Amino acid sequence: MALLDIVLHPDSRLRQKCEPVTEINDEIRRLLGDMAETMYSAPGIGLAGPQVASSHRVIVVDVAYDGDNGYGGKLYKIVNPQVVEREGVMDSEEGCLSIPGIIETVKRAATVVVEGLDENGDPLSVEAEGLLSACLQHEIDHLDGILFIDHLSKLKQHLVKTKYNKMLQQGQHEYTGRTF
Ligand code: ZN
Repeated sequence: MALLDIVLHPDSRLRQKCEPVTEINDEIRRLLGDMAETMYSAPGIGLAGPQVASSHRVIVVDVAYDGDNGYGGKLYKIVNPQVVEREGVMDSEEGCLSIPGIIETVKRAATVVVEGLDENGDPLSVEAEGLLSACLQHEIDHLDGILFIDHLSKLKQHLVKTKYNKMLQQGQHEYTGRTF
């Protein structure tokens, strides 16, 4: 296991569309393990391939992070995840490990069904609501080069850009709130 470097916005690697994984082998299993370790240590509740400079369609998610007590939840490692059903709308307060210091509220589907493969190549289906639903949508967006701030209004995007650039100039890389 190894900690991976997290790619930070506006790095162009965060904008690439990732390729589906064609063979789930030890290399992919190692990547998923390293991503989980990196997510836990950041700390965050989700991480997608492009955030660690991989162009594979892979995500890890564990929404049970509790700052004082660590993690006690379920770790999902999903290869080639796809949202196959979505229902309703909700406000979701989000941050991103690739955009430290920015927390904004975006619209997400309230419930989703996500299908993909587990690390052994077996089919996996997750029905999710609330934070898990938001986190899965956020990570799957990453695989298509989409960041959560893209879902904000143009005006809000401009304000966020100004704030983020200022923080970068000042060398601030502080994570606040829920980051995924
Ligand atoms: Zn993110």
